[in-house]
Parts: sequence; structure tokens; C-alpha cells
Amino acid sequence: MSNNLAPGKVRGKRFLVFGAARSGMAATRLLRREQADVVLVDEKPAKTFSNLAQELNSLGVETYFGSISPRVFENVQYVVVSPGIPADHALLRKAHELGIPILSEIELGFLFSAAPIVAVTGTNGKTTTATMVAGILSSAGRNAALGGNIGRPFCDIIVSGEVDRRGSICVLEISSFQLEHIRSFRPYIAIVINIRPDHLDRHRALENYVESKARITKNQRSDNFLILNADDPTCMSLKSKTQASVFTFSTRREVERGAFLREDKLMLTCRGHEHFLCRRDEVPVPGLHNVENFLASACAAWLMDIEPNVVAEAIRNFKGVEHRIEFVAEIDGVPYYNDSKATNLDSLEKALLSFPARVILIAGGQYKHNNYDALRPLVGERVKHLILLGEAKPHMKEAWSSDVLQPLEVETMADAVARAREIARRGDVVLLSPGCKSFDQYANFEERGKDFKARVRQLLQVQNGGPTQ
Ligand code: ADP
Repeated sequence: MSNNLAPGKVRGKRFLVFGAARSGMAATRLLRREQADVVLVDEKPAKTFSNLAQELNSLGVETYFGSISPRVFENVQYVVVSPGIPADHALLRKAHELGIPILSEIELGFLFSAAPIVAVTGTNGKTTTATMVAGILSSAGRNAALGGNIGRPFCDIIVSGEVDRRGSICVLEISSFQLEHIRSFRPYIAIVINIRPDHLDRHRALENYVESKARITKNQRSDNFLILNADDPTCMSLKSKTQASVFTFSTRREVERGAFLREDKLMLTCRGHEHFLCRRDEVPVPGLHNVENFLASACAAWLMDIEPNVVAEAIRNFKGVEHRIEFVAEIDGVPYYNDSKATNLDSLEKALLSFPARVILIAGGQYKHNNYDALRPLVGERVKHLILLGEAKPHMKEAWSSDVLQPLEVETMADAVARAREIARRGDVVLLSPGCKSFDQYANFEERGKDFKARVRQLLQVQNGGPTQ
């Protein structure tokens, strides 16, 4: 059997789709549209998917939920795997043993995509940057669909037909897990924002993690572009692994081809041609990391022939992304920010760097064996009061408390916000930036962020004389 799948060779083939969540369902829809046979399997019990029963029935899909017998592989020619499934899962090992090629959902989408792709990966900043790129392209009048790891799976975008029109572009946020099983996936522009040692429980070593990020460029050709962070040496190591034309961005120095910060000005440059974009204080979201995200996005938009003045206008009008240092409200001269998506220490660091001092930090969540000590100097410098939540409390307390910083330990978000309100003085900033995943107390980071915002808004209502509940 040939390992290479071509669009014309899908019809009548039998695919096993492993994982019945969003991306698995999207792959199933696309495969059925292309008249492939689909067997959809998931280890969760059938009742988890009762809401899908009707759709699966009308799609004509065979399903196996719960414990899965290796017999599901009978006559299967390809496996499509969802990003949540570890590469060493027994079922995938079985597929390897049987010589059945394994594809990721983005690989499948790519086979049927006529539109060029801007693919964004990195440890932190993927969603923000992909949202910025799509925003700039849309404000330039281009038909840009945003998906991948954010909200809509790539295959759903393809099935919707919305990128069929000439001149359309797909902007995809891609996690390294999704890159594990690509074969021909080839973005016109790939952006790698940064490579930090996160997710190492799954990737075991940084080297493997870098390799997995490098896969984004593995099929790129000399007429494609790779945009790298010049300030991140690990990220720059990808330069030696690509055929694509490399552009870079930097907030620390001027680059030859790409985008950079000159004093307080965001600039684009290529072969001696420079364009001023906007001043740093016109960037409407906090933090130098967001300047980085904009430099990367501006560079991508420019490579898609968007005029610098259009790019600049889109930057000025950017509304930010929910749960990423999101402004919630100001109460008695104290702004409250929701950064619930800060699920690792690198993003917590970036959030602290975004505010000069006097931060009342609400942190903590699911405990991971992290080096909390590394943040001690910055916490000491910027944090006025520390409020700790969740499983990581004792570890953060041990790493960050000092004579002047005595953490307050609380049980719930409601307590955390109430305590923050009590101690905050005009000129302080209240910041939820947990530095941890949320699963010890919430279903996901969105739920945690919404809880924080609801508590803050309750305070606001009280202040305005509204209902107290
Ligand atoms: P991702 O999709 O990679 O998780 P997000 O844009 O959702 O990235 O941001 C996740 C967290 O990282 C947020 O707390 C955000 O403020 C922070 N962040 C955003 N951009 C960057 C960046 N370039 N470097 C580091 N942290 C960032």
C-alpha cells in the first residue's frame, strides 16, 4: 500500500478516525463528503457522544466507543488521529505494527485545501498571533478563515466551502501535537513565535519538542516563508532546517528581513526598504510579548501583500483575545485583568512584565513540577500582594514568599477576588495570571477566566449600587 494519500484517492478507502471530539468529527465530515468509509472510535463511553448520534447516523459512520478491540482495524487503510491522543497510544502502536499510515486532521484538511495557509505555532502566543494575522487580513478585505487549534478544526473550514473563493486564506493555529502526524502539510507562511520548555511531560525532552515544532517547515519550499523570533535562540535553530525563505522579528535589535522595534517604533524591513508601522503606545494590548506577536503578524501580512498602512490600522484597532491579559473592569481606580490562559510560567512571566509594579497577583492551579524559583526575582520586584489558589499553593508559597511578600491562601476564586478588592489601592493592578493549568478546580481555563470575570463584575455592580446576590 502506498503511504501517500492524494485527494483523488480518498473515495472508497476505509479510514479509522481515532477520537470523536471536534477535530475527529471534522475529519469524519470531510471524509464522508469525499465518500470514504469511516469507522470512528473513542475510548470514552458511548453516552459521552449521545449528542452526536443523529449526525453520525446521517453521515453513515460505523462507531466503536468504550473499550476498543484491535479488530476495528479490519480493512482499514488509513488512521486519522486527534491531537489529544499520545503518539505512543496502544492503538497507534498497533496501526504502526500493521503498517497503516497515520495522519493528523490538519494533514487531511491540507489535501483538500486550495487556499494558501498561514500556520502559527510556538509555545505561547499562538492564539493571539493567529487572531492578529486573520484580523489584519480581514481588515485588508481578504477572505481569511481562522481555525486549527482555535475553535474551528481545519477540516470544518474546508467542508464549509468558505475558503473556496479565489484569494481566500486559511490562518491556522497549530500545536506541536497536531504536527506529529503530518506528511505533506505545507503552509505558504509558517510563524514560530517562540520555543520554550513547556509540555515536556509529553515530549520528554526539549530536543523532541524542537523537532516537533520544526515539522511545521519540513515540507516548505523556497517559494514559502518561515517567520522566526530572532530573540529566541531555540526558535532560530529552525533556520538550518528549512528550505523556505526566512524572515525574522525582534523587539531587541534591527533585523535584515522582517519586523523589529526601533526605540518605540514598530518597523518592517526587507532589502533596505523600511516601513514605519506604528508607535508602541498605539498597540492596544499590554506587554512586550504582544509587540512580538504583532511584529510576527505584520510580517506575515506584508508577505501576503498587505500594505503597511493597512497593517498599522488593523493593529491599532485590535481588540485583544479573551483570557489573555484581558481588561475586565476598573473599580476605584484599580484595573482588573483576566489572564486565565497563562497556564505556564513563561506566560505568567510575560504578564508580570506587562505591568511595571504594584501587581496584586492571583496565581495557582493544577500543580506541575515546575521551577517556580526561577520567577522569584520578578515576583519580588513586581508583586505587591500575592493571592494563591489551588493545588500549586504550597509550592508557589515556598518559592515566592519573603519578609515583604506573605502570600494569602484562599480556596475559591470568589475569595481571591474579594481579598484582592479589600487590599487593592488606587494605582494597583489586580491580575489573574495563574501560571498553572486549571484542571484541579475547573473544566478548562475558559471556565476559570469566566468565573474571575463574573466575580469582578459582581463587585462592580455592588460599587454601582446594583444587586449584590
Ligand atoms: P497559545 O495559543 O500559544 O496558548 P495564547 O495567545 O493563547 O497562546 O496566549 C497564552 C498565554 O501566553 C497568555 O497568558 C498570553 O498572555 C501569553 N502570551 C501571548 N503571547 C505570548 C508570547 N509571544 N510570549 C509569551 N507569552 C505570550
